[in-house]
Amino acid sequence: MRALVADDDVTSRRILEAILTKWGLEPTVVADGLAAEAVLMEEDAPPLVLLDWNMPGLEGPEVCRRLRRRETSSPPYVVLLTSRGEKSDIVRGLDAGANDYIAKPYDLGELRARIGVGLRMLELQADLARVRDELAFQATHDVLTGLPNRRAALEALEREVSRAAREKGALSLGICDLDHFKNVNDTWGHPAGDAVLVAFAKVVRGCLRPYDILGRYGGEEFLLVAPGHRPTAGGGVFERVRRAVAQTPVATAGGAISVTVSIGVANLRAGGTSDALLSAADAALYRAKDEGRNRVCYAPEEEAR
Ligand code: GH3
Ligand code: MG
Ligand code: MG
Repeated sequence: MRALVADDDVTSRRILEAILTKWGLEPTVVADGLAAEAVLMEEDAPPLVLLDWNMPGLEGPEVCRRLRRRETSSPPYVVLLTSRGEKSDIVRGLDAGANDYIAKPYDLGELRARIGVGLRMLELQADLARVRDELAFQATHDVLTGLPNRRAALEALEREVSRAAREKGALSLGICDLDHFKNVNDTWGHPAGDAVLVAFAKVVRGCLRPYDILGRYGGEEFLLVAPGHRPTAGGGVFERVRRAVAQTPVATAGGAISVTVSIGVANLRAGGTSDALLSAADAALYRAKDEGRNRVCYAPEEEAR
């Protein structure tokens, strides 16, 4: 693990560097508080920090204060090193945001034990961050396909509608619904139906630009938000999706399953809302089903307002 040592005394620096290296850490060494701050601002800053109190430029406690003002989910663990041994100094150092405090001259055993505490804290913090990220992912993604779930897709739509309005950009929304999907389940079984949904998500994603958003809206319905998309004579992204799905049978243990998709599309109009887009796309989808499925239908321009 990387560690930062900031101390203006060259001998202390060298000793600390040698000790930390011996203990398996990778020390970065600087001679003053400003340099320490600069290192800690970096993207991949060292998680463990040993800060001398008295340094030119910025003193240790001030470096701590500045660190703590920053919002981060993985703050470094900071130990202040100082020859000040007064209770009031300890209080000041901890109040400034240090995690711990060691009086110089320190005992090596104590330094090692305190660094051990810091490493355990950092490990806990990393575990917590992992769990939090995992929960955040689960709350916003569909378990089966890994796509954004209904709530996340609707939020993304809302966001893109606001952005398009602000930037006077184009935006299309497609609701994609697999055709006769109930038959797939009835004929091939529910697990095969699941495999088809997973494959469908992959095929569609493969037709999209990185900033297009595909989310699972419900069972076999998906939302496709295409910012900047302007409908073209050839049909643009939605026609591409329809064709790719029709041309890509899904290989399952029971054999290849061919599916098609119907897509209802609405283009954002000036002053349009996401609700209006959704209902216009839904009406267009209904028409696509009605007209025989495996097709893309567009909402009349005035509907999506
Ligand atoms: P249409 O062409 O009119 O859309 O017909 P459809 O059969 O696709 O439509 P319907 O709404 O009648 O049926 C949807 C089916 O999708 C029924 C439901 O069991 C199935 N389904 C929904 N979610 C899942 C899922 O997660 N896995 C599987 N295997 N099936 C699902
Ligand atoms: Mg369907
Ligand atoms: Mg449906």
